[in-house]
Amino acid sequence: MSEHYEALIVGAGFSGAVLAERLASQLGWRVLVVDKREHVGGNCFDECDEKGILVHRYGPHIFHTDHQQVVDYLSQFTAWRPYEHRVLASIDGQLVPLPFNLNSIDKLFTTSKARVLADALVENFGEGTRVPILKLRESSNPLLQELAGFVYDKVFLNYTTKQWGCRPEDISPEVTARVPVIVGRDDRYFADVFQAVPAEGYTKLFESILAHPKIDLRLKTDYADISKFNRETGEISLMGNTFKGVLIFTGMVDELFGFCHGELPYRSLRFDFQHHDQEFFQPTAVVNYPNEHTYTRITEFKHLSGQKNSGTSIVYEYPQPYDRQNPAANIPYYPVFDETGKKAYEHYEAALQGHAKVFAVGRLAQYRYLDMDDAVANALDVFASLSKFASKRRCLGWENT
Ligand code: FAD
Ligand code: UDP
Repeated sequence: MSEHYEALIVGAGFSGAVLAERLASQLGWRVLVVDKREHVGGNCFDECDEKGILVHRYGPHIFHTDHQQVVDYLSQFTAWRPYEHRVLASIDGQLVPLPFNLNSIDKLFTTSKARVLADALVENFGEGTRVPILKLRESSNPLLQELAGFVYDKVFLNYTTKQWGCRPEDISPEVTARVPVIVGRDDRYFADVFQAVPAEGYTKLFESILAHPKIDLRLKTDYADISKFNRETGEISLMGNTFKGVLIFTGMVDELFGFCHGELPYRSLRFDFQHHDQEFFQPTAVVNYPNEHTYTRITEFKHLSGQKNSGTSIVYEYPQPYDRQNPAANIPYYPVFDETGKKAYEHYEAALQGHAKVFAVGRLAQYRYLDMDDAVANALDVFASLSKFASKRRCLGWENT
């Protein structure tokens, strides 16, 4: 019965699951979580394939964070397998470390050239710094200009064009800055203090987060089939009755508002999973192919899980335009972080201001490039504001409004 719930949460990814758990365990709220997919975990969902290998259905997910609070929170629900992610990129017929660093330079240039390039990097930026490619391109030093041109052309230009459908300078600079040039020899993809994967996989972690007795979970349920949000009046209905609780929406914010300000731009992906009867397919979990092929990267999952198996499962990742009407391209994996996308989102952000009981939370709902740890930290922050909102409602006697 709809009146039993204090919160309706749309989406069982990190944003929805963490909020459900906090509201149930800390405020004693009864929470209904719905997800249109047949599983929990959102895009972090993993499962054993028919050969028994743990694969990530929506692309490789590696947990990495500097937020101790997030580690402490999640560690209540999972043990961890320490894992430091290393990526190679196929450049000029060689596999070289990515982020591009002094070891990558050694592999691609003659010894004497590599030395002068490394010296110029250290002199200009300092040992151990992380320099975004778009910043390196602004350098006035001729050696660094040459290096920047090389890295831009061989690592960023074609990969970004495949991934986003535009050139690196036409997407928000934070996107390419995620993979900076490193003035050092640290070959790890991430620099965070904590890097791991859940010991029994992400799906088990989500099942544990959502196991609270005050949480009801309904899968294969599109929010629009059981609930309506009237954007004019702010009224919410649930299963045909007026719903007086809080709506937390972690899907696409433009969908929540019936696309009244137009469709926000997203990018989608297509995954091609394969199994090979050989122990390993490639030397690292991920190999990027910036230049050749239409896919961007190949992931081999055994490197992540540490599973022992005589065969191995891999996935090829093909970027594609998002198309809401096409079932083969209608998963909005990435908000498009260009000026048009950000401006269009502002209309929805403004629309949300008028609705105190509606919270748009997460990567799609807030139109932000949130990694998993960011999504958890963000959900914990939203919980803190919601707790204040709840206690204010109690003080003012708004309980039943
Ligand atoms: P989601 O996981 O997208 O969950 C939203 C949920 O809402 C979905 O389950 C969806 O089905 C449901 N939903 C939407 N609309 C409706 C509706 N109308 N009705 C019912 N349900 C609905 N982060 C990292 O930290 N490390 C990584 O290595 C990493 N790799 C990634 C690789 C790829 C290819 C992608 C796309 C992302 C990656 N991320 C990674 C980011 C990570 O996926 C996100 O941080 C995380 O999934 C965000 O969680 P969320 O709950 O906000 O959104
Ligand atoms: N990128 C690139 N070449 C690479 C790796 C990354 O051009 O070999 C750029 C690309 O624009 C990509 C962005 O850097 O979208 C961020 O890369 P990241 O690996 O963080 O992407 P994600 O894992 O989130 O898809």
